[in-house]
Amino acid sequence: MERSTILVEQPAEHVARIVLNRPETRNAQDTRLLYELNDALDEAAHDPQVRVIIVAANGKDFSSGHDLRERGHLETQDQFRPVGTQANYHAPGAEGRMAREEEIYLGFCERWRNIPKPTIAAVQGRCISGGLMLVWPMDLIVAADDAQFSDVVVAMGIIGVEYFAHPWEVGVRKAKEMLFTGRPISAEEARMLGMVNQVVPRAELAARTLDLAKEIATKPTFAVKSVKQAVNAAQDAQGRHVAFQTAFAIHHLNHSHAMEVFGVPVDPTGIHGSVRKTYKEGEEPFRRPEPR
Ligand code: ZN
Repeated sequence: MERSTILVEQPAEHVARIVLNRPETRNAQDTRLLYELNDALDEAAHDPQVRVIIVAANGKDFSSGHDLRERGHLETQDQFRPVGTQANYHAPGAEGRMAREEEIYLGFCERWRNIPKPTIAAVQGRCISGGLMLVWPMDLIVAADDAQFSDVVVAMGIIGVEYFAHPWEVGVRKAKEMLFTGRPISAEEARMLGMVNQVVPRAELAARTLDLAKEIATKPTFAVKSVKQAVNAAQDAQGRHVAFQTAFAIHHLNHSHAMEVFGVPVDPTGIHGSVRKTYKEGEEPFRRPEPR
């Protein structure tokens, strides 16, 4: 696959580093970036020389989330062979929307979470909403001291991003606070909550993440794969998968509700709050509906 949004590097023997490379959009995720990232992760997973995979990002911020300015996303998606078994992306209503999000959001995140090799996210700056879905599926997270994590999707009438890991990542009570308010969690707070493994100075993020990757790369690959499967199985035994499916269904009820009331898949009134500030004048991602 020819890639224009992702770089793949080999910073050390047995280590692959996959870098989000749309800094001009603060690494907003459009359909192309997600397929290219998925492809790069597949390639690293299949390469017997790679023992540890790092996911990093160029620029000031790790990711500003889904690219709400993307137009023609279904046409872009048609250019890629589906990775899962979903179909009917062009079907009207919830059918097409849900199939698309099952493929590129929940489906991608689940398969990344289950890559049988250790993965490490290196996060700097802001990591907003959909950005969490590039970080949470990874096994370890190293954060720069300027990193902050937030999900602002509730302001848009939706329960949160499609990969609803919040209660598992930050605990039940903090998950509710982060979702109700949309306020960011700092790197240090995320570390104390157990969501982040290490907080390091911004200038040392790449080097310290690589040190960790190199250390893990010296361990027997089958044991490392087995540990990952065992820990993931413990989490799944607590009902993670069923909880995700329930949250995903509610997420789509929220999209359908917004379509019914506002004619767009998110509540556009919230866009004029905190999220609106990230857009330039005349660049609103959704039209404001006529009052009924
Ligand atoms: Zn959605």
